[in-house]
Amino acid sequence: MAQEKNTPKIVLITIDGLRWQELYSGADPLLITNKDYVKDTTKLKSDFWRSTPKDRREVLMPFFWKTIAAKGQLYGNRSIGNKVDLTNEMWFSYPGYNEILTGVADDKNINSNDKINNPNKTVLEIVNNTSKYKGKVAAFGSWDVFPYIVNEERSRVPVNAGFEEAKGDNLSQRELFLNQLQEQIPSPWSSVRLDAFTHHYAVEYMKKNHPELVYIAYGETDDFAHDGDYAAYLKAAHNTDSLIKELWELTQQDTFYKDNTVFIITTDHGRGTDPLDTWKSHGAKIKDAGQVWIATFGKGITTLGEVNDTTQLYSNQIAATVAAIMKVKYTVKKAGKPIRSIIK
Ligand SMILES: [Zn+2]
Repeated sequence: MAQEKNTPKIVLITIDGLRWQELYSGADPLLITNKDYVKDTTKLKSDFWRSTPKDRREVLMPFFWKTIAAKGQLYGNRSIGNKVDLTNEMWFSYPGYNEILTGVADDKNINSNDKINNPNKTVLEIVNNTSKYKGKVAAFGSWDVFPYIVNEERSRVPVNAGFEEAKGDNLSQRELFLNQLQEQIPSPWSSVRLDAFTHHYAVEYMKKNHPELVYIAYGETDDFAHDGDYAAYLKAAHNTDSLIKELWELTQQDTFYKDNTVFIITTDHGRGTDPLDTWKSHGAKIKDAGQVWIATFGKGITTLGEVNDTTQLYSNQIAATVAAIMKVKYTVKKAGKPIRSIIK
């Protein structure tokens, strides 16, 4: 029993539509100088342009390249032969999140971003349905479709997403302030809020309720890319990196999480590269938009750094990997198998 008590906590994170190309090579030379997508190329270059891909990625996402690379594992750098792909053939958000969270692509039922309650059970729901973890799972998302993806109604996993406020009787001062700010700061988009809200709602909830499995879905990267604003897309990637750093530091200051938490970070889909303007987009018609990446670090995760072998991973393996780390039985039909290099 003592050993079971020490089962790691999990922080599962997605960064919507962040390309592996920027994660592994930093700012794209064809886009950072392109007046169609960047207003002030001089300013953007001083922030994110460096002469080598290694320096560019480090200046773009310093936490990934200084900390995660030193502690954990990064998969999906195709320029060195390592691949992560979606198994769904839709290559947009709901099918991607469904695949990550349930372990099975379901192109028959999940083929739009409509607000339809997911007929499939996510790993969040499966974990929340165990006696050990009941009420110990929570989800936070910037996109207002997450309550449906997680099927909040059926799963009973609390989801704070879109423009939802923090609710309850014992709200912290910060939660009250976030609720006020969320009203007062207009989001650029109608269905997606700025990630700082999602992040700080999650942080406050973690401090107060200590969920054992928390899912945080950041969204800015995808929306700025659809807007065709490459500067904002890069800044969002840089910002998300710092938010993840903050989450890691939080877990290391809180005895509940300290030295016993695993982070798994991934994305719901890729984006195009060729023709150049397909960087803004994704979906079945956009070449290579099914190419994704996975990063992980924390308790018990072997340091492999940037993995350069030719093993092929798939997004449908993530749900089973989460369950395996938490020692929850996972018997979903057709689900991808746990990633062995992560769970060993
Ligand atoms: Zn999108």
